[in-house]
Amino acid sequence: MYSLDDTIAAISSPIGEGGIGIVKMSGPDVLAILQAVFVPSKTENGSVAGWQPLSHRLYYGHIVDPQTREVVDEVLVSYMKAPRTYTCQDVGEINCHGGIVPLRRVLELTLQRGARLAHPGEMTLRAFLFGRLDLAQAEAVLDVVRAKTEAGLRVAVDQLGGLLSAEVRTIRAELLNVLAYLEALIDFGDDEIPEQDVAASLQTASRAMEQLIESADRGMIYRQGIKAAIVGRPNVGKSSLLNRLLRTSRAIVTALPGTTRDTLEETLNLQGIPLILVDTAGISESDHLVERLGIERSRQALAGADLAILVIDAHEGVQETDREIADLIGDKPAILAFNKTDLPVVADLDGLLPEARAVWLSALTGEGLEELEDVIVDLVFSGQVPTSETPLVTNPRHRQALLEALHHVQSATEAQASGSHIDLLAIDLTAAVNALGEITGETVTDDLLQAIFGQFCVGK
Ligand code: GDP
Repeated sequence: MYSLDDTIAAISSPIGEGGIGIVKMSGPDVLAILQAVFVPSKTENGSVAGWQPLSHRLYYGHIVDPQTREVVDEVLVSYMKAPRTYTCQDVGEINCHGGIVPLRRVLELTLQRGARLAHPGEMTLRAFLFGRLDLAQAEAVLDVVRAKTEAGLRVAVDQLGGLLSAEVRTIRAELLNVLAYLEALIDFGDDEIPEQDVAASLQTASRAMEQLIESADRGMIYRQGIKAAIVGRPNVGKSSLLNRLLRTSRAIVTALPGTTRDTLEETLNLQGIPLILVDTAGISESDHLVERLGIERSRQALAGADLAILVIDAHEGVQETDREIADLIGDKPAILAFNKTDLPVVADLDGLLPEARAVWLSALTGEGLEELEDVIVDLVFSGQVPTSETPLVTNPRHRQALLEALHHVQSATEAQASGSHIDLLAIDLTAAVNALGEITGETVTDDLLQAIFGQFCVGK
């Protein structure tokens, strides 16, 4: 895809003002470039000429333009000699002051001395191509950077550490073992080969894959979050509830425009789950079509939501519009939030969404909010709380590959049971092995690599 012999350079810290900014380089010319642009305040032997850094040490000094002798910035520089580095190549890092101008000047100097600008994710791509990370681990780098909650971070760090990869490799090895046996049978016939229990191996592999696929429902929530729509008539207290939830949750991560013009998305951290609340922001209360509007906005918020929170004014009781909105929810998982329980509550609120869990609360006083949070978490995980020992599949790509591999193993199992020719089994098992290899990167195309690493930031 890209040459591995180039020395690449990039600004690895976020663009903007900061305490420090980092220019990172990887490749064979790192040392020469550092020697050309960096003037240490003092070398080991006291002389500035012929700086020969020790690996993995930090040196204080200045970046100086080799042509003009102009001092560009005061810096800390490290030189990390291959192979014990992020990319497995020589790596250099220049810690500058974190402003756009010094960073850009320092980057330009490295480019003038022969480095080229790194593509997005190219450092991590090199780590993958040189075998320090497998593909699932490389993808986890991005998940670590983008983790929305501590729980999401823990799952990503587990994946970076190779928890998922190890499990996938075990399954793949089991299948390869069967495949080798089948190929031996094809070549030598069953007189010469000790018999193996193919059915048992396929079953073990299937079961392990099924477990991983099941974990994806939870795993993807940690990575991507879950989308909940707060819906209801105007004035039932949707905004008040949203604000309450935002205040009690530990971190508000983002507020982004939703998928439609009239919705707003806010991500909050609900007991480790990134909960993306879709809010029908800015309902115009003066509009005399406001009830219709409430229904329309609810419809928009519900589109693409995984979960609905239907807010009902417990003081006013269930109205016709509430029922219409309940109908829109259909069979999405739903919570009925009976709000305004600080006021006198009218009886008989039942008959709405019989499957939904009901919570009584007051957005005004905060009463019942914790219960609402618990019910959301409960609903999201259907009572299953993940533990860190079992790997979670968090990435739709991995889930897809597992489904494909499982499909092939199942069809191999059927072929075996019905006494099909060994060749047919071998074809299915080869396809399964390849699908699993796409997760860890043993079998992978350039296009896929480009798609994966293209999502990274430059400098990672
Ligand atoms: P929305 O149109 O559904 O977003 O409703 P708002 O959050 O704007 O609330 C409408 C009105 O109900 C406001 O005057 C709120 O102060 C009031 N309100 C919201 N929640 C409660 C509650 O729990 N108790 C009481 N008494 N009033 C509430």
